[in-house]
Order: sequence, then C-alpha cells, then structure tokens
Amino acid sequence: MTPYRSFSSVQADLKTGTVTCRQLVEQYLVRIDEHRDLNVFTEVYADEARQQADAVDQKLASGQAGRLAGMVIGIKDVLNYTGHSVRAGSRILENFTAQFTATAVQRLLDEDVIIIGRQNCDEFAMGSSNENSAFGPVRNAADTSRVPGGSSGGSAVAVQAGLCLASIGSDTGGSVRQPAAFCGVVGLKPTYGRISRWGLIAYASSFDCIGPIANNAHDAALLLEIMAGPDDFDSTVSSQPVSAYSQATLPDRPLRIAYLRDGVESAGVSESIREATKGKINELKAAGYIVEPVDISLLTYLLPTYYILTTAEASSNLSRFDGVRYGYRSVSTDTPALDLLTLYKKSRTEGFGAEVRRRILLGTFALSASYYDAYYTKAQQVRRLIRQETERLFENYDFLLSPTTPTPAFKLGEKTDDPLQMYLADIFTVQANVVGYPAISIPNGTDADGLPIGLQLMAPPFAEGALVALARTL
Ligand code: GLN
Repeated sequence: MTPYRSFSSVQADLKTGTVTCRQLVEQYLVRIDEHRDLNVFTEVYADEARQQADAVDQKLASGQAGRLAGMVIGIKDVLNYTGHSVRAGSRILENFTAQFTATAVQRLLDEDVIIIGRQNCDEFAMGSSNENSAFGPVRNAADTSRVPGGSSGGSAVAVQAGLCLASIGSDTGGSVRQPAAFCGVVGLKPTYGRISRWGLIAYASSFDCIGPIANNAHDAALLLEIMAGPDDFDSTVSSQPVSAYSQATLPDRPLRIAYLRDGVESAGVSESIREATKGKINELKAAGYIVEPVDISLLTYLLPTYYILTTAEASSNLSRFDGVRYGYRSVSTDTPALDLLTLYKKSRTEGFGAEVRRRILLGTFALSASYYDAYYTKAQQVRRLIRQETERLFENYDFLLSPTTPTPAFKLGEKTDDPLQMYLADIFTVQANVVGYPAISIPNGTDADGLPIGLQLMAPPFAEGALVALARTL
C-alpha cells in the first residue's frame, strides 16, 4: 500500500467507496508492523482502532460522521487519554494509566478521529534527538543511522514513514518543528494559549504548546482549528475566536517577510541549509514579496534564557513524581528505603533518566535562594527584552523566515555526550516559544545525502491563518 499523503485524498476515496476506515486502519497496522525497527510507537491500539474505524464507517454510511472521519492519527506519549497508559517516555510513569483525556485529544475524538497508538518521545519532552527515551531511540526513516529529532521524534517519523496520516506532538522549544524538519514533514506550533494544555504532561508551563505534525499545511491547520479555543480546564487559553485556518488565504496587500541574516550567512549553519534557504528567499522575491534581512540583537541570549526558565519550571513541575503518587516506586531490597525522604530520593534517582535529572538539578539551582535573582529573575527580564525586540520586528514585517535547524538530522549517538551541542540544535526554534508566537516548519528540499531540510516561518500572535496560507503557497 502506498500511504495517503493528504486528508483530502482519504476523504475522496472514502466517498467513492475505494477504501473504508477499517481498511485504512488495517493498512496502517501492517505498515506499523513492517517498520517496527523505527521504534515509533510505544503502544499500538490495534483492536481499539479497528472498533473506532467500524463505528466511523457506520457514521459515514448514515451521514452522521464528524469532520475528521477517516483521519488516523497517533499521539505523543505526553498526552493523557483515559484508560490508556501514558509514560512521557519515562520509567517513572511505569504502570500509570491516564485518569482523564486531554482537551485537545477529546476534541479530535469528538470529530471522529481514529487514534492508532502512542508515540515514542524524549523523556518528559526534554531533548532534540529522541535519544532520551526509556523506550530507546526512534530512527529517522530517511536514514536509519540518524536521529529523527526531538522531542516528538516518534510523531514525526510516524508521518514520514506513513504509519498514520498525522500526529499530535508538543512543542516547548521546537519539539514539533525540529523533528518535522529532520523528517521532511510539516510541524505547526500555535500561539501560546491557542490550544488548551489540559491533559498535556507539563514540562515548562509558560512555554508548552500542543501542535500537529502532518504531511501538508492544510491538514495541520485543520487539526489546529479543531483543537484550539477556550477551555474551562486551562486558564491560560485565549478566548480569541478560532477561525477556519484550513481555509485561510493571504491578506490582499504586499507582504513583508524578514529573514534572519544568521540563518543564511552564519558558518554554524550547514551549507546545504544556507543554500536551500537562500533559494526560497529568491523565490519569494521573484513572486513579488518584500523580503529583507534582519538581525536579532539578542540571538545569543535565546538559548540561555530558554534553558534557565524551562529547567526552573521543569524542576517545579516534576516534583510531583515522588514515587508515592504516580507510577514507579523504588523497590530495591539490598538498600531498602526505610523513611519517606529516602523513598523519594531513590524513586526519583532510579525513575528519571540522566537528562531529566540534569535539568531538575539545573532548575532547582536557578531557583535556589542565593541564585534566584542572578538566574531566574535575570532570565525573566531578558525574556521580556526578547519579546519587545520581536514585537518591534513585527511592526515592520508580517513573517520571520529562517532555517528550522542549523544542520540536517545528525547521527545517532553523535551528540549524546555533549548536552551543549545538543541544545544548539534548537537555536532557531526557541524564539517562538520564548515570545509565545506561532511558527511552522515546512519541507524545503533535501541535501546531497537525501536528508530533509526544513524552513521555518514565524508570525505574530494569533496569525496562524496567514502563517498556514503562506506555508501552503510555498
Ligand atoms: N529540544 C528542546 C529541549 O530539549 C525542546 C524540547 C521541546 O520543545 N519539548 O528543551
């Protein structure tokens, strides 16, 4: 079976009876089985997906089906789905079952989406390569010796390899866009607060966004418009009206696009990516857009600000995993935990992986009484300056363009011993999270080795419609 690459082609075939939802699910299950070496799914809901498919086929026959009838998706292992395990790629959530369903997931189910399984990711969404997972790394389908990106690596490869039509991931600093770029698919991070975070396992609450990964911008936009909007369970969700992003068109006026000079000039960006980005800039100019280079004076402060604030928030968010309330509890008998504090320490030390422990320690340090002002307060101040600089930039431009990543997918193991090198993979993606703006990564060709290259577009808050419209024209 050649996998479908757009929801509209699935819908067309469902309509003519060329395929049924049940057949779609069977085909994906076969493909998932054939591609087990990619390590994409941590759990496949085979029988349940079959049942969902039969139910949707009946609804289609009686004209009662929702807007996502025929869409088969996977969800990242950080989204709660009642009655299903959720592990956040971690040992510490071993044997934990979700007690409720994330609002975003529920809204998709209400429109008859079919969920085929739970997707591998970096532990607690911390990582850029999917190598920090208790389930082992995911492999890039373009070259299985390479990483898929992270943290939503499983979700990106699932779409790349045609194991489902779309995925729902989460993006705190690039986790939807960076793996989408490495895998040659589309990843959309909405404005902060566009989609409810209820039911998303928290990493850094003031950065976290749920976002779709799909074959094309239209499918991503459709998923966004269904997941978005107010929710009584999340007070940070915006009440701005949700428009039909999948139908959005570009405003009828000359559009101004800024591009990041460093993205096409810096020696830190690989040549294939610089050339591909320049090529796209020239195409846009030829098409009549005003395209101009800009510098972001605070560029070098983006990653430090991001990593101080996210580790601080993570150290607080992850304190709930204490071996008592959720999942894993230390049971070692040689040195048993005889008091509460020892139980906490042993459970957390054994339950969390190395990168998560590193971030909890860094974050706890940044929040400690003697260093709070030097790190946390300072980073908050810099965050505001970055936001102000970004606001000023968007007074003159409609979009900011850059490569999504400085390099194509790197080799498995290449950066695991060097966290700083790993963190640099996020240099272009973190700005959107630091300021809360929407951004999308779209495919922009491949390098000489056939590795996908991503192009990132960022827009002002709640301009997802224009963002998706430009992505579609590109
Ligand atoms: N790679 C970044 C990090 O490790 C981003 C992760 C994310 O967006 N969840 O923090």
